[in-house]
Amino acid sequence: MEKSISGVKIELTSGDIASQPDTDTIVNAANAWLRTGGGVAGAIHRAAGPGLEEECRPLAPIKPGEAVITGAHNLPNIHVIHCLGPVYGRDKPEAELLRNCYRNALKLADKHKIESIAFPSVSTGAFGYPVEEAAKVSLKTIKATIPELGNVKKIKMVLFSKTDLEIFKRQLSVL
Ligand code: ADP
Repeated sequence: MEKSISGVKIELTSGDIASQPDTDTIVNAANAWLRTGGGVAGAIHRAAGPGLEEECRPLAPIKPGEAVITGAHNLPNIHVIHCLGPVYGRDKPEAELLRNCYRNALKLADKHKIESIAFPSVSTGAFGYPVEEAAKVSLKTIKATIPELGNVKKIKMVLFSKTDLEIFKRQLSVL
């Protein structure tokens, strides 16, 4: 499913964030120390190779809502933008921190003249953010940030499960 807002394409798909060769940049749902782990961070670091952790080391730690950029090493992309989502029930206010993640990642991408970027559903795995709430926050933030972007032309959300994809589709259709 896709939708265009002010000439920027928002695309929803299911799949693996580490296998998105058609986007310049992928976003990592990182941990504060920018190390490998489970879920998205594990998949990205495994595919990128150890050079990614090495490049990340001097940039860590990051705080909830922050985003930093690195190269993509052995991934089929140019850059990785690492953002730290809020842990649901601990890092508050959750919605504002999640909003900061998407907004900071998009602004950072734009500053680096990135044209296409793929996001996983930040915070909805180990960090426990309910998917429907996260879908609303992330899509609304993407929509609200688009008018401030000059270079980004395609924003893709890569959902790991078909159920999550359906939830995001419903929210995109009413955006
Ligand atoms: P967080 O710690 O921010 O919650 P996780 O990596 O645990 O991040 O999960 C975020 C979301 O990404 C969850 O919905 C999870 O199912 C999904 N996910 C896990 N692995 C991948 C992957 N390889 N590609 C895309 N999404 C993934």
